[in-house]
Amino acid sequence: MNATISAISAAHLIELEDKYGAHNYHPLPVVLAKGEGVYVWDVEGKQYYDFLSAYSAVNQGHCHPRIINALKKQAEELTLTSRAFYNNQLGIYEQYVTEYFGFEKVLPMNTGAEGVETAIKICRKWGYEKKGIPNDAAKIIVCGQNFHGRTTTIISFSSDSGAKNHFGPYTPGFLSIPYNDLGALQHLLETQGKEIAGFLVEPIQGEAGVYVPDNQFITTAAALCKQHNVLFIADEIQTGIARTGSLLAVCGNCTCAGHCERQGSYIRPDILILGKAISGGVYPVSAVLADNHIMEVIHPGQHGSTFGGNPLACAVAMEALEVVRDEHLAQNARNLGNIFRTRMQQLVEKSDLIVLVRGKGLLNAIVINDSPESETAWNICMALAHSGLLAKPTHGNIIRFAPPLVMTEEQLHECCDIIEHTILNFK
Ligand SMILES: *Cc1c(COP(=O)(O)O)cnc(C)c1O
Repeated sequence: MNATISAISAAHLIELEDKYGAHNYHPLPVVLAKGEGVYVWDVEGKQYYDFLSAYSAVNQGHCHPRIINALKKQAEELTLTSRAFYNNQLGIYEQYVTEYFGFEKVLPMNTGAEGVETAIKICRKWGYEKKGIPNDAAKIIVCGQNFHGRTTTIISFSSDSGAKNHFGPYTPGFLSIPYNDLGALQHLLETQGKEIAGFLVEPIQGEAGVYVPDNQFITTAAALCKQHNVLFIADEIQTGIARTGSLLAVCGNCTCAGHCERQGSYIRPDILILGKAISGGVYPVSAVLADNHIMEVIHPGQHGSTFGGNPLACAVAMEALEVVRDEHLAQNARNLGNIFRTRMQQLVEKSDLIVLVRGKGLLNAIVINDSPESETAWNICMALAHSGLLAKPTHGNIIRFAPPLVMTEEQLHECCDIIEHTILNFK
């Protein structure tokens, strides 16, 4: 690092963000300067376990050498051509990523929100051109407490007032049901099914506070959609890429990395949206996957992105996905997740401060025994940071725990010790 920059104090760096940056986030007062695997270091050299992984973007660990090498190598050759021309990485990547996840086609984008927007556009167009919905009448079902990103259309169907208020007028065409409510889904499909084009859902609601639905929710919802000729759209931007102990959360209890068709457990969405860890947190890459009969509604000039499918993104994403497979990250997330929840459950029984632990694989949360308006969860995160572990509250009284999936069992136990010690000594 540049000597003058490293000499600038944490307090001053925070002041700069405060003074010159829009106040659209409220970060913990930790200024990070370096990352490697499961660790990050602040500007003073203090080491932390990263228990957020940039909202599950860094599943492969910080600065994974294989992914960084792929980035460097490609950066020296060619970074951006736009889609006005072909490039020598995109086709290879498209074949790779579609085979990896078992779909016929991919539409490459950059951020998660763009992936969701793309899926909505494909779904609506499919609704008009394939299902025969009258023009401008298509509806998409979404769930309460959803998080799908920050664009104007996406916040139009958010139930979070902070995300939504004073950003209207909103995009119409969305119907909301409570998460995990198959009865409500069935009712909408039976009463308005002819105008419904899709059902957009997170297999586990991450931002909402790691809500894991009932076992049958995803499989039954997918079956209901099929019955009513409605596209089942899985937003796996946070849950995908091995985070929940399988390659995709919709794979249920299978760790095949997407290569089996195990009956009963593998639900194949009609449209799959990926982002975050598809690049190991190294570069913004998102992807929308579907089969030909759906993707073929998109023709030249109807959708696009200057950066989508650029050769740098393609090279990085391929290596990031290779790492997931080679290092058996789904299996590791599953094993460590079981250990983590067992340890946290023991803590729930010992401490009045936490109510419960929930989650799947290494996407977990504890609920703090205080109101969402209280400062308790924030103060616990400050105490955890002091003890060398970084996590962030969500919705006031929930703390999400999502470390990189390259963690070892020994490291996980050390982290559980830190959490336990912090909670038991918290005042
Ligand atoms: C993070 C996230 C998004 C949005 O991704 P961005 O890259 O921040 O635009 C969408 N859906 C889910 C489930 C997410 O977790």
